Amino acid sequence: MDCIFCKIINGEIPSNKILEDDEILAFHDVSPQAPVHALVIPKRHIPKIDEMTEADEALLGKLIHSAKKVAEKLDISDKGYRLVLNNGKEANQTVFHIHVHLMGGRHFSWPPG
Ligand code: AMP
Repeated sequence: MDCIFCKIINGEIPSNKILEDDEILAFHDVSPQAPVHALVIPKRHIPKIDEMTEADEALLGKLIHSAKKVAEKLDISDKGYRLVLNNGKEANQTVFHIHVHLMGGRHFSWPPG
């Protein structure tokens, strides 16, 4: 499959891994927008939130829980962090394999631009 994140999962493309189990992978974003910028992805290829089904509920719950664990591992839990899920064109989704952006280490304004 021609999906950059599937290629990261199967090792075709290298990544700087933070956490991995049989269902989830977390790695550092190649173009960080904050001092800490990790991506947390399910190993199952789901292109975007809009395409998730009931069968994905437990997995995507685990995705958020994994983001929490990554934040702990990277020592940003106390100060706070932002989780972002871009869905579709107007949200600027560029990689069509669901991913949570975990960003921290600086202040984030609200609303986002
Ligand atoms: P999005 O715009 O929400 O689809 O985010 C895609 C993210 O994937 C961007 O932050 C990119 O910097 C990141 N990205 C793309 N290719 C790679 C890669 N090979 N390794 C790590 N991060 C990547």
